Amino acid sequence: MTDSALTDGIHLVVDALKLNDVETIYGVVGIPITDMARLAQASGIRFIGFRHESNAAHAAAAAGFLTGRPGICLTVSAPGFLNGLVGLANATTNCFPMVQISGSSERHIVDLQRGDYEEMDQLAVAKQFAKAAYRVHRAEDIGRGIARALRTAASGRPGGVYLDIPAAVLGEVLDADQGARSLWKVVDPAPRQIPDAASVDRAVDLLAGARKPLIVLGKGAAYARADEQVREFIETTGIPYLPMSMAKGLLPDDHPQSAATARSLALKEADVVLLVGARLNWLLSHGDAPSWNPDAKFIQVDIAAQEMDSNQPIAAPLVGDVGSVMEALLARTKPSEHIGEWRQELRIRSEKNVAKMAGRLETAATAHPMKFLGALTAIRDVLAENPAIRLVNEGANALDLARNTIGMSVPRHRIDSGTWGVMGIGMGYAIAAAVETGDPVVAVEGDSAFGFSGMELETVCRYKLPVVTVVLNNSGVYKGDEASPNGDPAPTYLRAEHHKMIGAFGGKGFEAATPADVGHYLRLALDSGEPALVDCVIDPSDGTESGNIGHLNPKGLTSKKGN
Ligand code: ADP
Repeated sequence: MTDSALTDGIHLVVDALKLNDVETIYGVVGIPITDMARLAQASGIRFIGFRHESNAAHAAAAAGFLTGRPGICLTVSAPGFLNGLVGLANATTNCFPMVQISGSSERHIVDLQRGDYEEMDQLAVAKQFAKAAYRVHRAEDIGRGIARALRTAASGRPGGVYLDIPAAVLGEVLDADQGARSLWKVVDPAPRQIPDAASVDRAVDLLAGARKPLIVLGKGAAYARADEQVREFIETTGIPYLPMSMAKGLLPDDHPQSAATARSLALKEADVVLLVGARLNWLLSHGDAPSWNPDAKFIQVDIAAQEMDSNQPIAAPLVGDVGSVMEALLARTKPSEHIGEWRQELRIRSEKNVAKMAGRLETAATAHPMKFLGALTAIRDVLAENPAIRLVNEGANALDLARNTIGMSVPRHRIDSGTWGVMGIGMGYAIAAAVETGDPVVAVEGDSAFGFSGMELETVCRYKLPVVTVVLNNSGVYKGDEASPNGDPAPTYLRAEHHKMIGAFGGKGFEAATPADVGHYLRLALDSGEPALVDCVIDPSDGTESGNIGHLNPKGLTSKKGN
């Protein structure tokens, strides 16, 4: 047998990924996967090499959300694997499809704990953080393992899947024909899930009797890519809706039926609530009074049956994919009657809130030193000029205030801290957004949040990605004016001139002290189409501890003075 009639585990992994239309791998090379990255690149798959696996895994997760196909993350064994796990777990929590493939050490040494290079039973560790975890023991099972991982990640409720491939399997040589026959392409990885007709009738009947109906759109609705069905249903029924942060843009934020600016009234008063790809988790106060009307009846559209009743009784569960369910509802729903007064009530509250906010924005516009809202107004105005821009957003105050200030008008153009409210997704998400969509990306980052993935600025510059990072820099976690009882900096204090960092990697850095500067530099950076960073110098006293979720801090004996 000649060499040309042989293949090995590394080739089979790359061939299987190619066969399944994988275009990009996000990862960090090292033992035992470096050759796999090289081979992938030589075979036409793009390899985006990161500085830290957690950022590569976050990128794969964002790629999954943005494309609807599992993003792929490649890591080395034990420490690299563990770093990636943060992104894998976060993807699973957010219901984003991704596959983390990690090389691992020799089974016969690891399992007897004889002390191998980077020894760890990675499969056992991964299981509790992933939707599923699999290990391939023979090169002939690589195709099967990859097919299984891709289908599991994408089907039903999407999530993160771990695939463990020991170094020995990657090096295993086998007959090339046998290898080729062992690979297959997954057919229809995320089939439609049509709702049961009786469940549709139940939901329609409940909605028909509502005096104050409300629709809540979550990121599952954005992920489902059923934009037309969702819009048509909302506009046909005339029911007011609330978008969760990553559902913003499914309908433009200035849509007349949006109740976003009357949120608390909408929750308190709604009598029938239709949840579409949104969970009644902490982000929605678990559906509990006093945030919600205690007599509200819930209808829930979700692909995962087990989500029903997780927090409140679901009077009308609709198990299926958002597109199929909305189509079925639409076929039977008529414009809602008697909701004119309800809409008027929300409109009046909304006008009041918008006027209040306009006053705050006006004050912030001229404040010196600059306030969060001053910088954000400038960012909002620039982004409004180009709706194609993908917005990444994380931080505490930077997240809360940007979410309410920056309107979105296109679906899936905002990706943020998500279900965990996690910090550290910034550069990973921004890189994936640029790579997967080719659109310009603006990452609006709190200074603390940015630090978790800041070294990936080098990755942004190395791949020359059109990412502009805007750091809202108030010199601290929450705020930067806390005094310390000894010579050390206060636990919340940070100090960095971020615009200087990017210069080391060949990108352009700007420092902005006024809203006018912010707008000017952001436009300049976007026009160049090149990697850039705008460091916005924000008043260190601006900011609230823990943003708008300060109530989650334990209320023990320690008094929290904030500064
Ligand atoms: P948000 O944080 O925006 O409220 P969540 O992440 O809490 O959104 O909820 C998303 C929900 O959407 C999850 O329960 C998930 O099972 C569901 N989901 C994901 N994809 C689909 C789909 N294609 N069709 C229906 N439901 C989906």
